[in-house]
Amino acid sequence: MKVVYHERYRTVYSSDPASAPGRIESIYNELRGHFEFVRPTPATEGDLELVHWKAHIDSVKRQSMVFETAKLAVGGAIHAAQLAIEGEPAFGLIRPPGHHASSGSCWGFCYFNNIAISVEKLRREGKIKKAFIVDIDLHFGDGTANIFANTSDVSYFHPESGNREEYVKSLSTVLKTKKDCDIVAVSAGFDRHELDWGQMLTTQDYFTIGEKIKQFAERVCDGKRYAVLEGGYNHSVLGKNVKSLLEGMK
Ligand SMILES: [Zn+2]
Repeated sequence: MKVVYHERYRTVYSSDPASAPGRIESIYNELRGHFEFVRPTPATEGDLELVHWKAHIDSVKRQSMVFETAKLAVGGAIHAAQLAIEGEPAFGLIRPPGHHASSGSCWGFCYFNNIAISVEKLRREGKIKKAFIVDIDLHFGDGTANIFANTSDVSYFHPESGNREEYVKSLSTVLKTKKDCDIVAVSAGFDRHELDWGQMLTTQDYFTIGEKIKQFAERVCDGKRYAVLEGGYNHSVLGKNVKSLLEGMK
């Protein structure tokens, strides 16, 4: 498994918790020495236009530091998806996150929908037909769901539950029954951890989730799988949780 990373993700581009100083470093320091890191290039405006309206792109462009970092985040997701298609599982250690970005609007610390663009690019290039997006962030990825609302070729699943056993069970039930997809992409948010906003999952649960994603991918889509970072705000556990997911998923 490779980790897609760029020093520019350390840029504090805004005052929201996803952009907080030290957040990317907390993950980087945990993964360093355990995974091979590769460097992405920024997405092009053509890539952004795969899912976003021009007016939305132009509105983000007005904040130049946000725009440059967000374009690089999309590039990181595209790079991770490309590695996955070539048979190498990958994780995009990127920010800003993306799953609250719809075609013409965004909120929740998001600007461009990294995972949606990376999936749509694979589709447009004819590398896949169907994709399955699993979103384990605490929050529902309304942007991703909106963007793919009109196609049955990309399905979006966001497990919901009031306790951790049922949460993991609902994810495994769906993974056991689903059959048709060419790649699985994970919106990997860690804000449902017991020491983060959602106060529920353990660090070990992320390993279990990663393992289930891997087993699903091996059974259904030749092992093609990748994940990209979404939320997760407690820097003292974030790195360990990311590492745990990746150890299960690799
Ligand atoms: Zn979240």
